Parts: sequence; structure tokens; C-alpha cells
Amino acid sequence: MTIKLIILDRDGVINRDLGTYVTCPEEFEFIDGAMLSEIRAGGGDIHQIVYCPSYDNNHPWRKPNAGMLTELLNSFNMNANETVFIGDSVRDMQAGMTVGCHLIKVNDCYGNSHIDKMTEELKKQVIFTDNLTTATAYLLQGKSIK
Ligand SMILES: [Mg+2]
Repeated sequence: MTIKLIILDRDGVINRDLGTYVTCPEEFEFIDGAMLSEIRAGGGDIHQIVYCPSYDNNHPWRKPNAGMLTELLNSFNMNANETVFIGDSVRDMQAGMTVGCHLIKVNDCYGNSHIDKMTEELKKQVIFTDNLTTATAYLLQGKSIK
């Protein structure tokens, strides 16, 4: 399976999760490990940044609801099986499972907490890695993804 689109969660994947929302540039701290240089070396790039505009858990874009992922797949005209979603939370994985994309979970700021909240069905669909660097290494191996 060729992966054509990678969707990254932000907090806990790209930047350090503060346990609350980043509200200003000074609070944004990149996690070690660069994926962008690898993406660009392979001819890719970052094409879109999206966020849920609401704190309402019923908002379709608020994970574990899958509206944001569905919107991204539609806007890039991609199938879920051509897409990897990398996140750090169970809610990320639940949203990804809803749309059917490939799933990589990096450790959250507490290690790998809340994994007990994942169903066995969901655990079978997730590739567990430590961080974005190891997730990138996994993808670059070119192995068939689940
Ligand atoms: Mg996160």
C-alpha cells in the first residue's frame, strides 16, 4: 500500500503537550525529531493546517469525532487506505478508526497512558511507536503497513 497522505496531530506529536492548550507562541515547544526535512527530501510538503474551532464535544471536528479527518480526506481527494494518521491520544486513534485510515500512536506525555481505554479491535489497528521520529523511521522502512 502506498501512503500518499500523512495527517499529524499537533499537541504531543509535533510539540510538547502542556496538558492544556497552547495559547501563545512562547508556549509552543517542538519535540525533538524533524519529520519535515524527511518529507521534503521525498518530494512531499505540509499542505494544510486545520484545527477544530470549538470546545464543544459534539462538534463534528472535535475528536474522537471524525469530521476533521473526513474533511482532510475529501479536500485531498484521498482514500483512507492511502492515509496515515499519527496521534498521541486514544481520541486520535478512535477518530482515525472511524474513517479507516492507518494509525500510528506515539507515546503521550505520560508514556502510553489511557491505552486501557482502547478496545481490542482498535489496538489491533494501531502501530505503537515512541515518538514522531520513530514513527517516521517506521514509515521510511517501506514495510507494508497494517
Ligand atoms: Mg495530541
